[in-house]
Amino acid sequence: MHAPHLVERYGSPLYTYDLSVLRAAHADLVAQLPAAGTLLYSVKANPHPELIRELYRVGCGVEVSSTGELDAALSAGVPPAGILHNGPAKTRAELEHALAAGVRLFSVDSAAQLARLGHVAAQHGVTADALLRVNGDTAPAGAGLAMTGTASQFGVDAGHVAADPDAFAHDHVTVKGLHFYLGTNVADEADLIATFRTALEVTAALRPVLRRPVEVLDLGGGFAAPYARAGRRTRYPGLRAALEDLLGTHAPDRPRVLFESGRYLTAECGRLAATVQDVKQSKGRTFVLLDSGINHLGGMAGLRRVPPLVPQLSADRPDAPDVTCDVVGPLCTPLDAWSRGVTLPDLRAGDVVEVPNVGAYGLSGSLIGFLSHEPPAEVVLDGDTVVHASRLSLVRTEQKGR
Ligand SMILES: *Cc1c(COP(=O)(O)O)cnc(C)c1O
Repeated sequence: MHAPHLVERYGSPLYTYDLSVLRAAHADLVAQLPAAGTLLYSVKANPHPELIRELYRVGCGVEVSSTGELDAALSAGVPPAGILHNGPAKTRAELEHALAAGVRLFSVDSAAQLARLGHVAAQHGVTADALLRVNGDTAPAGAGLAMTGTASQFGVDAGHVAADPDAFAHDHVTVKGLHFYLGTNVADEADLIATFRTALEVTAALRPVLRRPVEVLDLGGGFAAPYARAGRRTRYPGLRAALEDLLGTHAPDRPRVLFESGRYLTAECGRLAATVQDVKQSKGRTFVLLDSGINHLGGMAGLRRVPPLVPQLSADRPDAPDVTCDVVGPLCTPLDAWSRGVTLPDLRAGDVVEVPNVGAYGLSGSLIGFLSHEPPAEVVLDGDTVVHASRLSLVRTEQKGR
């Protein structure tokens, strides 16, 4: 649907998510993975319950890393038994909430976290299942943000597990298998396959010291998609065959294999529309000032190495000449710039611009509280039909002391 039309109806700025694009991305990724694998949606990329609901409806599992993400998944109708709870520093309160809600599968990142899970499970009179998140001892080549191989706050070093396997056991926890997440946004197919090979080699190396068979093997992901610029999700034509080969070699006991993805599933379905509020010159530069900035998109410092965001003009003005400009937002800090020195059509106040491919790490990866601007509306479309419209709000509630 045309962005200016939606902006007129729901206000500016405005996120849209198209479920038809979401389903296509899901079908694409599933087709590139081994048929026997299960794909989990990483809610971190976009916790909108309507996106979680649709992905669950088409067969996706769900992976959460906080109480808020868990509640979003539950509110989307995902049964707790199908949810994997991740997170490197889960608190007692988080574990209590998750166990009380019926979640039974947890990734644990250390012996202490496993013991904490066991303790809370015992108090609830249940036994929880766990996947031990493991770091290999070598870094796979070119794996985006390094999450393993080097020192890491995530997981436990494979060497520590091998040295003291008894530390990773508890009466109220069944260690069902291992969890890896060795890279993110890995566009090169050979690099991506290398991360999976590393995970499977580490699994094979640890198998003799583990007290139980590896029934579940979460191989993570790293599937790449464009962020805030034009482009399409990456295709991995050789991935499926390579994974089937690797699994046959390194996991002949046929564990249940899980994969995880956030950005590949949701990146392309989302667009952010904003409205030009002012265009002005300063010392020879042109500044385009929008009603949206790093409070709504691109505020996450962790997104380092991201190329400049490149908005596109929605207003039909084919005759507009190109100008070089800085695209900045409404926040009172010079850091609030989506891009500097980009070429855009000559914009005027009132024009609507759109940033494509921001369905992943858009609003939830932003500085939503900074400067206290109202969050943008979020409109869920299915093709041309609006199926849901809502707006987040930050609400201060009274906190009673204990
Ligand atoms: C962030 C994260 C994901 C999702 O990463 P994407 O790049 O969005 O696919 C999956 N698993 C774990 C453990 C993560 O931390």
